[in-house]
Amino acid sequence: MVSTAICKILVTGGSGLVGSAIKEATLSCHALFGRDENEEWVFVASSHGDLRNYEAARSLFEIHKPTKVVHLAARVGGAYENSLKPASFLLDNLAIDGNISRLCHEFKVQKLVFCLSTCIFPDKTSYPINKSMLHDGPPHDSNFGYAYAKQMLDCSNRAYLNQHGCNYTAVIPTNIYGPNDNFSKGCHFVPAIIQRIAQARDAGADSIIIPGSGSALRQFISSHDLAKLIIWVLKNYNTPTPIILSVDESDEIMIKEVVQQVCKLSGFQGTVEWDTSQTDGQLKKTADNSRMKEHIGEFSFTPLEIGLAETLAWYDGNRHLVRD
Ligand code: NDP
Repeated sequence: MVSTAICKILVTGGSGLVGSAIKEATLSCHALFGRDENEEWVFVASSHGDLRNYEAARSLFEIHKPTKVVHLAARVGGAYENSLKPASFLLDNLAIDGNISRLCHEFKVQKLVFCLSTCIFPDKTSYPINKSMLHDGPPHDSNFGYAYAKQMLDCSNRAYLNQHGCNYTAVIPTNIYGPNDNFSKGCHFVPAIIQRIAQARDAGADSIIIPGSGSALRQFISSHDLAKLIIWVLKNYNTPTPIILSVDESDEIMIKEVVQQVCKLSGFQGTVEWDTSQTDGQLKKTADNSRMKEHIGEFSFTPLEIGLAETLAWYDGNRHLVRD
């Protein structure tokens, strides 16, 4: 009988927005975007070990002995939370990522995928942004702690390849949204507005106030689409050069329009007022997905309105599970 080698894939941050979408994607077998039959996937959260602590992280590797790792665990938050605690975002992420890089080398992990973000690119740049611009200047003030920690991952991946021959890489998603998102104070834009609008609807409010002018532009990617693309990267993309995973530039949308869509989908009938004394953050971060298309070809992304409807339905049906 031919024995099939088992590939064990450890996903850190497995309880989060992206981790839970990958978990769902691996429920079905798919040659490109799902589980292979010889794979075992393990999803861990902070309750299984605080990855800022080397010994705790090491014991996870000893228990699971992964052959591949998708590293999603991070201190993640919206612009407000980031600007309030830059030192915590910097130091926690440096510690978590440093431990994972080191342990993947020590345990001879065959492949490691990290997750960067388009919000770590220089504030003053030309558009569309691409992977070669990552270190061209300082990031936006609002998230410099998080951004510099994530930028270091790109340096560390190249250093581990040059010194130890490690197969580490990184994906760069744009703004992610979907079920199981973090709806707590200081969360990202989509969960924040879904929560605010759903609560205003339930309270029968006449109006809501949203911070900023609504004119900032963003590319949103559904966590389900991103999950499939990360699985593809894990299996097929073997270079430390990070790869932007994003919808097309033409799918960039104004924050104002997203708010209108959520109002419509949720049935909120009141008016929206914009508090222009609050920051918009970076006005745009248009990302170039041509490298992704060169490698993967055309990918059918979930239309934003459908993804928002699903996220809203998840929020309405799972208030007891929502992280707040
Ligand atoms: P979430 O906030 O939804 O989840 C974070 C995950 O990390 C949770 O599983 C959490 O565990 C875990 N975690 C946090 N701190 C620790 C720790 N000290 N030790 C162990 N585990 C920890 O994050 P997302 O799914 O949104 O993000 C996944 C990745 O994508 C991150 O690397 C993030 O930087 C990146 N990213 C996210 C974007 C977004 O819009 N959300 C945009 C671009 C990139 P627990 O649930 O137990 O707390």
